[in-house]
Amino acid sequence: MAQYTPMIQQYLSVKAQYMDAFLFFRLGDFYEMFFDDAIKASQELEITLTGRDGGVEEKIPMCGVPYHSAENYINQLIEKGYKVAICEQVEDPKSAKGVVRREVVQLITPGTVMQGKVIDEKENNYIATITDFNDGTYGFAYIDLTTGEGQITMITGDWLDVVSEIYSVGAKEIVVSANHSEQQLQELRDRANVTVSVEEDITIPKVLYETSNLLEQTKLKDTLGRLLQYLVKSQKRSLDHIQPVVYYEANQYMKLDIHSKRNLELVETIRTKGKKGSFLWLLDSTVTAMGARRLKQWIERPLLSKVEIENRLNMVETLLKNFFIRQELQEALKPVYDLERLSGRVAYGNVNARDLIQLKKSLQQVPIILGLVEQLQNSYADALLQNMDPCESLFQLIEAGINENPPLSIKEGDIIKDGYNEKLDTYRDAVKNGKQWIAQLEMKERQETGIKTLKIGYNRVFGYYLEVTKANIHLLPEGRYERKQTLANAERYITPELKEKEAIILEAEEKIVDLEYDLFVQIREQVKTYIPKLQKLAKIISEIDCLQSFAQISEEYQYTKPEFSNDRKIVIKEGRHPVVEKVLNSQVYVSNDCYLDSESEMLLITGPNMSGKSTYMRQIALTAILAQIGCYVPAQKAVLPIFDQIFTRIGAADDLVSGQSTFMVEMLEAKNAITKATQNSLILLDEIGRGTSTYDGMALAQAIIEYIHHEIGAKTLFSTHYHELTSLEQSLERLKNVHVSAIEENGKVVFLHKVKDGAADKSYGIHVAELAELPERLIKRAKEILDELEHGHKSNEPPVPTKEPTIRTDEDAGQLSFFTVVQEKQDRKPKHTTNKQEEDVLKTLQ
Ligand code: ADP
Repeated sequence: MAQYTPMIQQYLSVKAQYMDAFLFFRLGDFYEMFFDDAIKASQELEITLTGRDGGVEEKIPMCGVPYHSAENYINQLIEKGYKVAICEQVEDPKSAKGVVRREVVQLITPGTVMQGKVIDEKENNYIATITDFNDGTYGFAYIDLTTGEGQITMITGDWLDVVSEIYSVGAKEIVVSANHSEQQLQELRDRANVTVSVEEDITIPKVLYETSNLLEQTKLKDTLGRLLQYLVKSQKRSLDHIQPVVYYEANQYMKLDIHSKRNLELVETIRTKGKKGSFLWLLDSTVTAMGARRLKQWIERPLLSKVEIENRLNMVETLLKNFFIRQELQEALKPVYDLERLSGRVAYGNVNARDLIQLKKSLQQVPIILGLVEQLQNSYADALLQNMDPCESLFQLIEAGINENPPLSIKEGDIIKDGYNEKLDTYRDAVKNGKQWIAQLEMKERQETGIKTLKIGYNRVFGYYLEVTKANIHLLPEGRYERKQTLANAERYITPELKEKEAIILEAEEKIVDLEYDLFVQIREQVKTYIPKLQKLAKIISEIDCLQSFAQISEEYQYTKPEFSNDRKIVIKEGRHPVVEKVLNSQVYVSNDCYLDSESEMLLITGPNMSGKSTYMRQIALTAILAQIGCYVPAQKAVLPIFDQIFTRIGAADDLVSGQSTFMVEMLEAKNAITKATQNSLILLDEIGRGTSTYDGMALAQAIIEYIHHEIGAKTLFSTHYHELTSLEQSLERLKNVHVSAIEENGKVVFLHKVKDGAADKSYGIHVAELAELPERLIKRAKEILDELEHGHKSNEPPVPTKEPTIRTDEDAGQLSFFTVVQEKQDRKPKHTTNKQEEDVLKTLQ
């Protein structure tokens, strides 16, 4: 250390406290990085790596970015999941003895970044924390620093439940204690895609602690404490806008695990990981950023309370009946600015005058919105508006104080309105009078000298001057003017009285700028006191926006108001898949019914590939979710139970954690469903077992069906290409066969996408292969093989299951029991029916 220059020593001692972040070290107009930071940053940011003498023989790797464009570079790093510590000079270099003192003023991380491109206006930016209590429970809290919202809960379950919750909240960063295994943390990174930060030794920041008055459960106090401590330590500033953290029970909401959310493409599509094409994309007809964020929250958390659901549905109904009010409401919402994020910026002290004007314009809309909502005469909406403060006094404050078109900068004046502050008015008068005096002087001098082109100008170096062209100099009287500057064809002069006025003007101007800044800061501090009210206003407006969005979508796509059954009955008439229907555009979506009750709990769906099996299954799940978030549903009629959970195992396995086979992932997802589902859940299992050999897979599929049928009784949709399984209808009394029909035309398959009772009678795999134009010879051969297999199979139908529920002990439960089944079936697997080659061909074609 000693051999380094004092500045590098300073750098190293600061860096030692921020090992997991890039240290942006301020040197004059640049932020510099050194050593490994410099090497890595030069790669990540594609900037030039240089070297600097630092007291040792070899040059120290260095790279830097200009401070005025630093935000862009910081954002790039944050977007990649890194952290950036901003180290500033904290004393005036002129008065510094030795090396200028430098301190980290803020640690910017993916979960604490406040502005810039990284922040999506339609999404919350959450930072979360998790505490493992080692008894199957976890404390979980999260806060959006940009809006100040926070929530806390207790998760009961396993690590997957934790990962699911973090994924579903969409946290960008998670703060944990050092107690977690590296595997757990890696799973968080891989599956929930978060940056992990470790924070030890909680000493709860007192001020913030008082904002969260709810926490009787001491366990949770530490959880929240860790998060708040991390925020205080990293942000090093006022966090006044953090709202009291709200406690919620996970069982207040429908549970949707990470797989189901992905499979159902609730907020992003599986393939592109983008929003376009997702359920959220379809439903988003919100007009404010706050509304869009609320909508996402609602979709992540469908409700369980019938009263709450019906409150929303009734409001949607009212909005649909009042088309014109709804239209006016949409218009009234449009100019409403992001009040939540604005509050965050007010608390951080980085709002400018333009933001305040936006705030004023938003507040101007509030009475209009209120009036329109009142006209709707909806009791839920009325309740929403109660105790709402439209913040009129804040409106008046900004109206009185801030210019209508202020500049971006808050340090160059032109912000405060005339008449707001007496002193400011006096200074402004002085400037005005001074300038008038100068204008008059110009006229006077022109008359007296007879030089028409004489003019008075101003520049920063010489101040005010009289300018006379060289041709006219001889007309000037002797001794009255003092020459100051010579130009190519003119001379510039000053006079003592001009300088006297100039001093008055300049002094007043300087005072104006200072005073305007002070007044602005005062106003900003006053705005700060409104933060809680603004946040409440934001919440109400965002809900209204979501509900109008539901109404809009429901009308646009002709949805129906769902009803809820108490006897676990599903009646869907002419149901559609909301997203596929939209994407199909001009092509017609074929609607389908679904009927399930306590007599028929399970549908076994057969039909050729591409016939629409998984679309049908998804459409039932999405319909249930729509109903439970309080939106109308795509059907002619819909009666639904309130589902406590939805589980899905659909489509291509989305294997994010390396080292697990697709089939293993499939099994883990199936396990998750059957160990956690209840009678009130909905399970969708698509082609379970296809990831392994035919008999193996079929045996598993059958065992899973039996298990759900006997032991869970959840409403289940099970699609399969194992036609053999359709015979289960005879033995499992609550299972019903349906199939998605297709017809053959001229030896080719035509999909009707229509779900009908009974089993599909033929496999169309080969026809699909034909459509895909596989070589003719191959198709012919496949047909031969199929023929052989069909004959072979007759004697090898799967064993008929027991009709009585199996009596099982607890130890039997769970995943292991399947593997026992697998083992048995594998042992029994007949050798003569297929050889490996034939099986492969068959698999390709199915
Ligand atoms: P499967 O699960 O049977 O292989 P999918 O559900 O993936 O089939 O459906 C295949 C395609 O068929 C979908 O991408 C969609 O374009 C179309 N499709 C499915 N169901 C319908 C329907 N009811 N009406 C119109 N097109 C549909």
